Amino acid sequence: MQTTTETSASPESKPGMQKPQTMQYPQERSFYDGLLREGRDAPTRAEIESVLAHTGLTTDDPRLATLRGVLKPYAMSDAVPFDALLPALRGDGGTLLRRALRGDLTIPDFDLFTSTLKKIFDDVTGIRTGEVASYIPQLARVDADAFAMAVCTLDGQQFSLGDDATPYCVQSTCKPINYAIALDLLDAEKVHRHVGREPSGRSFNEITLNSAGLPHNPMINAGAIMCASLIEPQNSSADRFDRIIKTWRAMAGDRPVGFDNAVFLSERDTADRNFSLAYFMRENGAFPPDTNLQSTLDLYFQCCSITVDVRQMAVIAASLANGGVCPLTSERVFTSGTVKNCLSLMASCGMYDFSGEYAFTVGLPAKSGVSGALFITIPGVCGIALWSPRLDALGNSVRGVEFSRQLTRAFNFHTFSDMVSDSGLSNPRRPRAEISADEATYLCAAAAAGDIDELRRLLARGIDINRADYDGRTALHLAASEGRAETIAYLLERGADAVKLDRWGNTPLDDAERGMHHDIVARLKAAAGRPFRATATARSLKPVLAKAGPK
Ligand code: GLU
Repeated sequence: MQTTTETSASPESKPGMQKPQTMQYPQERSFYDGLLREGRDAPTRAEIESVLAHTGLTTDDPRLATLRGVLKPYAMSDAVPFDALLPALRGDGGTLLRRALRGDLTIPDFDLFTSTLKKIFDDVTGIRTGEVASYIPQLARVDADAFAMAVCTLDGQQFSLGDDATPYCVQSTCKPINYAIALDLLDAEKVHRHVGREPSGRSFNEITLNSAGLPHNPMINAGAIMCASLIEPQNSSADRFDRIIKTWRAMAGDRPVGFDNAVFLSERDTADRNFSLAYFMRENGAFPPDTNLQSTLDLYFQCCSITVDVRQMAVIAASLANGGVCPLTSERVFTSGTVKNCLSLMASCGMYDFSGEYAFTVGLPAKSGVSGALFITIPGVCGIALWSPRLDALGNSVRGVEFSRQLTRAFNFHTFSDMVSDSGLSNPRRPRAEISADEATYLCAAAAAGDIDELRRLLARGIDINRADYDGRTALHLAASEGRAETIAYLLERGADAVKLDRWGNTPLDDAERGMHHDIVARLKAAAGRPFRATATARSLKPVLAKAGPK
C-alpha cells in the first residue's frame, strides 16, 4: 500500500481471498492485543470498559454506538473474543476508538489531568464561605454546599465529580448563549446597534446605559434582556423558547436540558429591577421598534430558568471551545465568527465586576450566574463546568473562582501563559505540531476504514478535505483504494479533489481502477469532469513526479 496511513487489508480490497479474521485485520488485532492482560488471550468486557474510561471516553458516548452494541450481550466478567470486537474497531466509531487506545486524543494523559482536577476539587470543597443568592426566593432554597465539576475535551473525553447529576438553573450563564443565538440570526453589526461591547464597571443589574444609550454588553442583565428581544421577535413566545432550548440541547450533545418552572415564576414575581431596566432602555430608544417588553422579559426569565447538570454544561462549554461544533455529535451549532465574538465578551465581561481581575489571574473566557453556575472555555482544548451555590460579594461562586485560580496555577491554560517560557506549568494538551501532522493521517485512516462519522468530526474541525499525507495521499485516494463507495460519495459531495496526484502521480481514479472497484470508477470519472484526460495527465506526469520524490 502506497501510504504511511494506518489501514487494514480487508475483504473489499482483496476479493476472493479468505483469510482468518486475525490475519486479515493486523491493525485491529494489535489494538485488541493491547487490551489483553498478562497471560490471557481475550479481555473481559469490564477490562475493555476500564481501558476506555482511562482515555476519557465512555460507552454511553453517542459516537461509540457500535461498541455499545458489541458489548451488550456480554456480562462484565465475560471474555470478548477478537471476532466479536472487530466491528467496533473498524467502521463507524472505530477510528475514534483506535485513536483513544493509541493515546492520540486532545489530552493524551487524561488520568494525570483528571487526577490534578480532583486534587483541586477536593481542596476547594473545604471552602464554606459565601452566601446563596436570595433575591430570587427559589434560589435561596438550594443546598448551599452542593458542589460539582465536569470537563469535556474537544475529542469528547469526559470526567466529572461531586453532584454531577444534579440539575441546577443556569441563570446568567444563559447570557453568552442568547448573545450567540442573536449573532447567528442577525450578524454582529445589527446586534451591536442595540448592545455595546464594553465592561460596565458596574453591578450586573445596575440601572445604567452607555453614552450611546445602550446596555454596556450582553453579559449583564440589561444587555441580556436586549439580546432576548432580538431572538426571532416575529415568532410566538413558544417558538422563540423552543428555538433557544433546541440550541442548548444541540450544544449539550443532543441531551435534553430541563426547565425549572418554580424558578421562572419566582423570578418573574420578584423582577422589579429587570422591569425597570427594560423600561429604562425603552425610554432611551435602545430596543428595535415594536419590541414587546413583557414577552421579552418572560423570554429572558425563561432562559435563566433552564436547567442542566455540570456534565451537560461541560459539553456546551466544549462546543464553544471547539469553535461552535459539539464534540459529541459533530453538529455545528454556531458559526466560528459568532463563537469568537462570544468568547471575546466572556473574557472581558463574563465574571461581573470581577471580570478584569479574572482576566488577569485566570485569563480564560468564562461566565458565572447567581445560581453558583460557572463555565470556563479553554479554546482548542476543553470546556469546564462548575456549580457551587455560595457566592462572593460580587455574585460569583466562591468555589468556582478558587477552582479557576488553582486550575491556571497548575496548567498553562491562561491565554498568555506561553509568554512565560519557564512558568513551570504543565501542558496536558497534545502538541499542536503533532496534531497538525496527524490530521492527514486521521483523515486518510477514517476514509480507508469507511468511517464517515469520524470524517464528519474531522472536517467539522476545519481540516481541509484535500489534506494529503507525506506521500501525497488524500482521504479520497484511500477511500478509492479500499473501494469505499459511500465514503467516496460523501467526500466528493464535500469538495474532495478527484484528480489530485499522490507522490507517485496517481489520482484516486487510478487507485479505484487498480483495485478493480468498478462501481466507483464511474463515480470518480464523473467527478473529475474530464473522464480520461485527468488520468492521462496524471500518467504523463508520473515519471517526473517519481523522480522528484516526496514533496
Ligand atoms: N435571572 C437573574 C436576574 O436577572 C440572572 C442574574 C445573574 O445570574 O447574574 O437577576
